[in-house]
Amino acid sequence: MSATILPASETTAITRAADILRDGGLVAMPTETVYGLAGDAGNGEAVARIYAAKGRPSFNPLIAHVSGADMAERLVEIPPLARRLMEAFWPGPLTLVLPKRDEAPISDLANAGLDTVAIRCPRHSAARALIEAANRPLVAPSANPSGAVSPTKADHVATGLGDKIDIILDGGDCPVGLESAVVAVDGDTATLLRPGGLDREAIEAITGPLQTAGQSDAPASPGMLKSHYAPGAAVRLNARAAGPGELLLGFGEISGDLNLSATGDLTEAAARLFSALRELDARGADTIAVAPIPGHGLGEAINDRLRRAAAPRDAT
Ligand code: AMP
Ligand code: MG
Repeated sequence: MSATILPASETTAITRAADILRDGGLVAMPTETVYGLAGDAGNGEAVARIYAAKGRPSFNPLIAHVSGADMAERLVEIPPLARRLMEAFWPGPLTLVLPKRDEAPISDLANAGLDTVAIRCPRHSAARALIEAANRPLVAPSANPSGAVSPTKADHVATGLGDKIDIILDGGDCPVGLESAVVAVDGDTATLLRPGGLDREAIEAITGPLQTAGQSDAPASPGMLKSHYAPGAAVRLNARAAGPGELLLGFGEISGDLNLSATGDLTEAAARLFSALRELDARGADTIAVAPIPGHGLGEAINDRLRRAAAPRDAT
């Protein structure tokens, strides 16, 4: 089998993809963060197919994508602080981990049997149309083999998983380019489990200072594996020049073989990060050396992904 690629902007493509999802099949969909491998959250077999297609450890739970707070409410309890975050940032790149309702229509495999569920309402029009057409929450991890670089173009999905999916909806380049920020809300306490495409400063404007995962009784995020987002090449961080066998991924004044953003714009750098890693990999680098990236704003998530890309590969 090789996936059919259809334009995400066509209503007929969305209708066909929604039919496949309702029958337990898998569809790759564009979102504003990265391409997701979507399946019916309530269908255990579909969810199992997602884990198998990605080679993802089944203890690493999935994010359920919803059309808004109403659909979220069928899955989770929404404390007032979470409601304020939804009002401020949904639809958008913010995932909330919230207490699961007993009757939630979600397979135990999807949330790895935890008593919480991670939910997000995507902003991308095709993802929204697909959730509405399927009329159910869709789990959708990034549409790539587990541990590899996340896809930000339909071609990336076809290269990594094309023989395991029925349909790829092509929505062009993902505008944010980084996975969502993941925040657990427990009563009045908000904990940042994963930095992502919505920066800490924006979230903290609503929550006050975020707790850090691993602190006191903060919930763990089972999916934060050390080695992740890894290209084929080795990765060396904070480089100012390329050594032998290296290609340099630049930022700002360090221009390199490819520059994430010549003007030093972190939003542009985030959007380009994963396709730049793929591109330098394809050019045959033994090692991708990466220029220093500032840690503020989206730089926190960019540096998080780069540290995991550079981590020893036997760590998984
Ligand atoms: P991905 O789908 O690959 O973008 O990853 C989803 C992230 O959300 C992973 O880091 C998961 O561990 C995390 N996650 C999903 N569900 C939960 C949950 N119920 N509790 C804590 N973390 C979660
Ligand atoms: Mg992923």
